[in-house]
Amino acid sequence: MKLKEVLSASERSISFEVFPPKTEKGMENLRHSAAEFAKWTPSFISVTYGAGGSNKDNAIETVVSLEKEVPAEILAHLTAIGATRSEIEGIMEIYRENDIANILALRGDPPKDSPGDFPAGDFPHASDLVSFIRKNSDFSVGVAVYPEGHFESESIEKDMEYTKAKIDAGADFAITQMFFENSHFYSFIERCEKYGIDVPIIAGIMPVLNFDRIVEFADFCKTEIPGKMVRLMEPLKGKPGDMKKAGVDYALEQCLDLKKHGFERFHFFTLNKYASVVEILKKLSDEI
Ligand code: FAD
Repeated sequence: MKLKEVLSASERSISFEVFPPKTEKGMENLRHSAAEFAKWTPSFISVTYGAGGSNKDNAIETVVSLEKEVPAEILAHLTAIGATRSEIEGIMEIYRENDIANILALRGDPPKDSPGDFPAGDFPHASDLVSFIRKNSDFSVGVAVYPEGHFESESIEKDMEYTKAKIDAGADFAITQMFFENSHFYSFIERCEKYGIDVPIIAGIMPVLNFDRIVEFADFCKTEIPGKMVRLMEPLKGKPGDMKKAGVDYALEQCLDLKKHGFERFHFFTLNKYASVVEILKKLSDEI
């Protein structure tokens, strides 16, 4: 079923992001996690895609397997960077044949150490991929959005202009980058209203398991790590059990605050692990 319809049917949604495993053992683990996620009747499970098609076959295989094995809609991520029209057409054809109805259209990033290695490709921006998919298929299309602005953007205003263009190219919904300070999300929603962006916007929630990794990634994406998070998590480095619990508590607080402000669309970045996310959902359903 198309996510355009699923998401417009309710103001609430739960969804999970996973990545394509590299080994059969990893795939077994993902199957187990996906079965746990399916118990929460999610609106969808999304599967990431390596920029430039670095894991193309593996990503396609994971999408198709989950579609067959898990009772949930699957959202296939697809990146534009370095891709040609015929390559994208080929992937869309496979997805069509396998009953995949939804694509998250992204630009992707060149590798940090060798950004020049990528050929230009036919789609410079995610908006070009959105237009292409929209014109050549009837997939429901989602895009990525950035409550704190995309890290390359010269200004928040420019970022909003491009975000608006990306939605106007034909996106049905948007998923945010992870954020740890909810006020950024609320300001972003206000800006969306000002710019006439009215598709469902899903809050990206990252339950922290490894604080150092999150700090590194947040630094790359220019995502703020609030002082309260540093004070909570810095002393727990080297204590994985305590860190996991703090990660659950922090994400739960974020979700409860979002709910209090009237936002109930949560997309969990799971890293293929279900325990923290399921704990958050259990506590969230106790609280609401
Ligand atoms: P775009 O929308 O193209 O924006 C990229 C930059 O270009 C922005 O600064 C924007 O303001 C600017 N821009 C946009 N249009 C124009 C224009 N017409 N002219 C000039 N500038 C413009 N990456 C992966 O590789 N695989 C994944 O599976 C993946 N999944 C993701 C899921 C989510 C929910 C999120 C938030 C991100 C994901 N990413 C993934 C990361 C994403 O690819 C990067 O953030 C990338 O840097 C930008 O992708 P985009 O689709 O937002 O690009």
